[in-house]
Amino acid sequence: MRYLPLKVVVDPVVSDTAIARRVLSLVPCAEVVSVPACAPGPHDTGSTLFLMNNPGPFVKKCPETPQYVCCGYRILNIGTGCPIGCTYCILNEYLGSRAMSAYCNTEPLFRELAEVVKGPFLRLGSGEFTDSLVLDHLTGLSADLIPFLLKQRNLLFEFKTKTVNINNLIKYEVQRKIMASWSVNPDVIVKAEEHGAPSLEKRLAAARECMKKGYIIGFHFDPIIKHDNWEENYTKVVDLIYQHVEPSCIGWISLGCFRFVPALKPVVQRLYPHTKIIYEEFVQGKDRKMRYFRPLREHIYDVIISRIKKYHPDAPVYFCMETPAVWERVLGKKTFSSDGLCGMLDEVREKFGLD
Ligand code: SF4
Repeated sequence: MRYLPLKVVVDPVVSDTAIARRVLSLVPCAEVVSVPACAPGPHDTGSTLFLMNNPGPFVKKCPETPQYVCCGYRILNIGTGCPIGCTYCILNEYLGSRAMSAYCNTEPLFRELAEVVKGPFLRLGSGEFTDSLVLDHLTGLSADLIPFLLKQRNLLFEFKTKTVNINNLIKYEVQRKIMASWSVNPDVIVKAEEHGAPSLEKRLAAARECMKKGYIIGFHFDPIIKHDNWEENYTKVVDLIYQHVEPSCIGWISLGCFRFVPALKPVVQRLYPHTKIIYEEFVQGKDRKMRYFRPLREHIYDVIISRIKKYHPDAPVYFCMETPAVWERVLGKKTFSSDGLCGMLDEVREKFGLD
């Protein structure tokens, strides 16, 4: 699926920016309206795209939770919303609007980036409030970012996606200086819970193309969803990954079992009444999120990681938002902390010669 808006709402202050001009030239059939200080609201549908200034900072810290091991990641905020429509997506609850927005004021974006790269080594990615590439065929933002990113020495930027929208990415040879990563799930979950996303096979084919263009490749088993035959299905996902991508090109693989804030449940019930994923047994964590019970989470991680290690004994695997107890029981890392995880992930810098 390639997103095309039926309606574009443009704040007049951005109408002359490169991003707004590109988008408007590519959607000739869309209704275009000009609204000063526009922003997505609760009644706007997913077929409406807002072209606007980012009202806040572009670079933010990924929210951390003290009781969990966090990875010290930074987020580049390029817009909001996602038309892929995963049933479990936190954006369903968090944003309060189904509409898309793309931030067009790239001058302050590049100013902020130029500032943050003066500090310590940074892992930064744009797939937090939207998918990194879901609007890229319209905005062309990656083609603005990549030449800048290739000149940096203190940064690993990650395009995190479920799409195969890689046409801009593969115009560049990036010599393992930039990362492209895919969220993965078995096709039975893709079909049931990730309605607008390409199949696993298509995502892995896109990963392979990016690998050939010199991208460091990442995979995110997140959210891992328990379902009938989950062991066999997740094992097959691992097998397929290693049929498509060389272990030496993988920067990291994250794993995180399905978790959600309680406020998401009624939203999912309203938007996706067919889904069963919210009716498993859950325990509430110290961050108030609902999770599968720890023994089940550990078993799931064991199954997936032991298959990964079959192909890739020193695979850089990590857990997203897990407790120190899970780190110890599954990976044997005693008293593991957020600092330990940051140090582990920063090893990517040495591995790919990023300095
Ligand atoms: S692809 Fe990511 S951002 Fe888009 S709906 Fe799915 S979980 Fe949300």
